[in-house]
Amino acid sequence: MEHLIEGYRVYRERRWPELRALHRRLAERGQSPRTLVIACSDSRVDPATIFNADPGELFVVRNVANLAPPCEENHVGFHGVSAAIEFGVTKLFVETILVLGHAQCGGVVAALSNAPRDSQHSFLDAWIGLLDPAKARIPPGCGDPHAALEYESIRVTIENLKTFPFVRAAVAERGLRLAGARYGVADGGLEVMDPETGRFSPVV
Ligand SMILES: [Zn+2]
Repeated sequence: MEHLIEGYRVYRERRWPELRALHRRLAERGQSPRTLVIACSDSRVDPATIFNADPGELFVVRNVANLAPPCEENHVGFHGVSAAIEFGVTKLFVETILVLGHAQCGGVVAALSNAPRDSQHSFLDAWIGLLDPAKARIPPGCGDPHAALEYESIRVTIENLKTFPFVRAAVAERGLRLAGARYGVADGGLEVMDPETGRFSPVV
């Protein structure tokens, strides 16, 4: 914890003076981020850093492997990701949902592993099972199955988003955009998905 307190002191001394006015406005008027980002919990993939975003700009949901589940009719349990998506779409009226995948994703490595899963007792194993539909689409003999699954998981998550009635309604009624991108941890490159073709191409 000490290093966090030390980091906070640096923030308070160096960054806070320049952010003070922005935070005062955000406190008075509330937040109105235009983008909901679904990103991985991976410590190397921070959306605010990657997109050079200030406080108030991004509403961020982070979880293992940047996934959204399909809409579940069963409301038993605590659907944190679904609740955050609902809040972003129906309360904050975000204009875009961006699914941000990344290279070297540990969740993707786990999904590709042949080790047995215990979805009855492991939250993680059950969650990783969300990648199975994407995994099933990776062609046999694919040269780089990790990268292929990272791309495919973004596409599947966007498909899952469309199973939420409030997402479909926002797309139809006010033009909510569903976007995908993949971040290269090693080189800092960003590839953006073409919504029509599902293909990714680098930002230059
Ligand atoms: Zn990851």
